[in-house]
Amino acid sequence: MSFRRTSILIPVLAFAAGTVYLQAQRPARVDDVALRNAAQSKGEDWLSYGFTPQETRYSPLDQINAANVSRLGLASSYEVGPGGGGQEATPLVHNGVIYSTTQWSVVFAVDLRTGKEKWRWDPEVNQTAVRSKICCGVVQRGIAIYDGKIIAPSIDGRLFGLDQETGKPVWETRVAYTQENYTLTMAPRIAKGKVIIGVAGAEYPVRGFIAAFDAKTGVQSWKFYTVPSPTDKDPGLVKALATWPKNIVGGGGATVWDAISYDPELELVYFGTGNAGPWSEDTRVSKGFDLLYAASIVAVDVNTGLYKWHYQNVPGDEWDYDSVQHLLQADVTIKGVKRKVIMQANKNGFLYTLDRTNGKFIRAIPFAKINWALGLDEVTGRPIINPQAKYSETESVNITPGPGGAHNWSPMSFNPNLGLLFLSGQSAATGMTYAVQPNFTYNPQGQNMGIVFGGRGAAAAKPVAGAAGGGRGGAAAAPAENVSPEVAAARAAAAAAAATAAANAPPPPAPAKLREPLNVIGPDVTGGFLMAYDPASGTERWRVPGGSAIGGGTVATAGGIVFQATGGTLYAYSADKGTKLLELKTGMPGQMAPPITFMVDGKQYVALQVGNGANPPPPGGAAAPANPTAPPAVKPRLLVYALDGTAKLP
Ligand code: CA
Repeated sequence: MSFRRTSILIPVLAFAAGTVYLQAQRPARVDDVALRNAAQSKGEDWLSYGFTPQETRYSPLDQINAANVSRLGLASSYEVGPGGGGQEATPLVHNGVIYSTTQWSVVFAVDLRTGKEKWRWDPEVNQTAVRSKICCGVVQRGIAIYDGKIIAPSIDGRLFGLDQETGKPVWETRVAYTQENYTLTMAPRIAKGKVIIGVAGAEYPVRGFIAAFDAKTGVQSWKFYTVPSPTDKDPGLVKALATWPKNIVGGGGATVWDAISYDPELELVYFGTGNAGPWSEDTRVSKGFDLLYAASIVAVDVNTGLYKWHYQNVPGDEWDYDSVQHLLQADVTIKGVKRKVIMQANKNGFLYTLDRTNGKFIRAIPFAKINWALGLDEVTGRPIINPQAKYSETESVNITPGPGGAHNWSPMSFNPNLGLLFLSGQSAATGMTYAVQPNFTYNPQGQNMGIVFGGRGAAAAKPVAGAAGGGRGGAAAAPAENVSPEVAAARAAAAAAAATAAANAPPPPAPAKLREPLNVIGPDVTGGFLMAYDPASGTERWRVPGGSAIGGGTVATAGGIVFQATGGTLYAYSADKGTKLLELKTGMPGQMAPPITFMVDGKQYVALQVGNGANPPPPGGAAAPANPTAPPAVKPRLLVYALDGTAKLP
């Protein structure tokens, strides 16, 4: 692909006298010690996706604080590329250089002191060949830094170790093949010298897995499949085999496309797994089976990749409840006992607290409206699934949360001093209506949900919008999603085209009968929100309106602030009470990526990527319908903010 580099750099960060001293405090190369001790650092660098191995996204920086954050303004910006999808990447910062990734896995490095691009590297993905294998937008969620290298996944299944100084490949390896329907969208993590990464694509015929590679050489260390097969040796997978029907349709799904968390003391790698495929029990012929380890949180040994424990969020899931959301570790005193916990706000509307040493359920609370479950078993945490939530060819049911989820990939954060978790999510007024697709035939090269969205019949044939990130982010499923006017217009045009096609199509089969509305549990709130949760008491501390489950997310700081990116705006709230301190319009349309904060030459900054660029074609590869009234696409940018910043967008 051709990339046009434009005059995009606004150098604003000047050299300061203290530079040499400050830099001497930090490692020239990022190693295990630096990654492990990020929480004890001064917070100048942002070295890994979740800031710490525990994925806390809590910065020790406090120069920007509750008293002065209202002075935040744009300091500089950088055009990250042509766009053509949502921005989802968390940039990394090391020694005054910011590294990140954008559409089609292009990686870039920008010197924050000069504002100049240091290097840019394009893995030259065969876009035509790969596009139909990408379920949910041409996106990347990030990269890793280790031992003088930037570890960069390519959406087409390759993984690269790039020289941190030059951007040139040092090693290249293969995680998976798009010919086998896998893609890579998640940020790799580093754990004990290994690169850990999972695959996306649970709606395709794939067998989900997570794999580890030597970060110095790219050689594979281990691979853990999330779907068992009769030839497996790992006792964890042997145990799982009985939870599947004999002939698994397709590969089983259960891909690992977002969260990974690592406990360096326990030497455990934690990850969440996607839905089983196809979505309905009828089409995957699995009635009554739990399907381990789909829709689960799993721990494996970092050295061997062998199974340690699991907790299944949704046995026999039928509603696309991928359980890959952010896994955040904390040490919390619960009922007088100090517990090593891991927390997840699941797509399914429950916020879970588990014991991360053994996977035992501690508690969960509903944080959004839920009607698929009546509650959870207090001891085991197994959901009590509402029998009315099951659907068939003849009976459809409206389920909330929908496939976009009450929480999707938007990162949470955790302030250890206040003991509060911050979650950006949404509670849907109405969910998604599901019925089983009649006469389903398996497509070995495409997506296989086996669902008629909205029930059966023309009125229900809603297109599945794909630009929303990991999950099925259809408009009905994700009302609070950030979309640019162009994307909204493209979706409206696509919906109009679908309606025309439906009008010209032969009469649909008789609609499935819609069940009466189901019993709803959870807080009586509707729309997007930011909430603070106290895991020690298991209670919500505060909640403010506005937020998204897909896009943006949060970062908390020692300045007593939680930043939230949503709806084209950067917000800051007081962490203790949720008082709004800042509402800063980025002026950029399109999906926001998570905010980070860092320091260069003694000055604190906040940065994030925003924008969609040109309309992404819908899944399947066809061009998006032309919309003559849409404004010209604004190319995505990396925006850097500082106190009293006065820069302007071009
Ligand atoms: Ca899914």
